[in-house]
Amino acid sequence: GPIKQEDLRNLAELGQGNGGSVIKVEYIPTGLIMAKKIVLIDAKPTVRKQILREIRITHSCNSRFIVSSFGSYILDPNICICMEFMDKGSFDGICKRIGAIPINVVGMVAANVLEGLLYLYDVHHIIHRDIKPSNILLNSEGEIKLCDFGVSGELINSIANTFVGTSVYMSPERIQGAEYSVESDVWSLGITLIELAHGRFPFYMEEADDELSAQPDFDADREPEQRDVPDLLAPPLSPASRRRNRRRSKGVSLQGGSTELSILELLQQIVREPPPRLTSSEKDEGKFPKVADEFVDACLIKEQQDRRPPAELLKYEWIEQTLDSGVGMKKWAESV
Ligand code: ADP
Ligand code: MG
Repeated sequence: GPIKQEDLRNLAELGQGNGGSVIKVEYIPTGLIMAKKIVLIDAKPTVRKQILREIRITHSCNSRFIVSSFGSYILDPNICICMEFMDKGSFDGICKRIGAIPINVVGMVAANVLEGLLYLYDVHHIIHRDIKPSNILLNSEGEIKLCDFGVSGELINSIANTFVGTSVYMSPERIQGAEYSVESDVWSLGITLIELAHGRFPFYMEEADDELSAQPDFDADREPEQRDVPDLLAPPLSPASRRRNRRRSKGVSLQGGSTELSILELLQQIVREPPPRLTSSEKDEGKFPKVADEFVDACLIKEQQDRRPPAELLKYEWIEQTLDSGVGMKKWAESV
């Protein structure tokens, strides 16, 4: 039968996102451990029922590249989504614990995310819309799976936080207001891979005069205070006006101290600057295989129409080499 709130026992909090929180729970009737996501919804009962219907599409997803879903229910004013518990957590947490991820494991992340995107797109006609390290999960079997895909347009509209949907992993065309496409997911994957391979987010301010090597933390996309509509089509800012902006935007900085960078500046930078690269400085030269650089460059082509779709990217040499080399994912997963 359907899962009911009374059948669940809370065990631990797994994390907080901008839409709600995730709790490790036991399903008492069978003893199965699950992850329960609680989303605070600001919507009328009829809309809420529509959201539930949309979320239930996820229950029919059946792929080893997608976190499975056991059921969902309304617990006013929240919607609760019960899903497969991934005991090694998400890749943002893993990065926080161990720093940079070995490049062959990053290759496995790329391969699994592409397979997941392909499955969602080909079988369910769903675009993920929120690829980032915290939505890529690992278990101690060494399996890598996607969660939190945007099935529900109504859900996205109703989450009681205006900042939902704005993310530093967003593609240039999305920042400029274009519709989501599977290629926007590919961009987000490229950014994610650089972050995992380096152990930190890839965007930096290029100013040297005040040591502004801003490094947003992994919560960079969750700034509840930010309410401004970014004027993304404005001409490039001078360094002086950037500094002014930065002072004005105190309180919405991504990191405290002298290394702050407002999300607005970051989004402007994504639109205006050349795309980031896996090997971007001399000190990284030779650190990663050339085929990995080639793959990430293909994900981060700024023009959406020139970016490669998942099916083509799966045929890239880096992916084939990674899969052929038999990365010991189970052993690695047990070690993190
Ligand atoms: P975000 O993805 O923005 O971090 P979420 O609310 O989606 O916010 O998730 C919060 C955290 O909960 C994630 O970062 C992840 O570490 C953890 N989490 C989410 N789903 C699961 C799951 N199925 N199994 C284990 N941990 C999970
Ligand atoms: Mg998430």
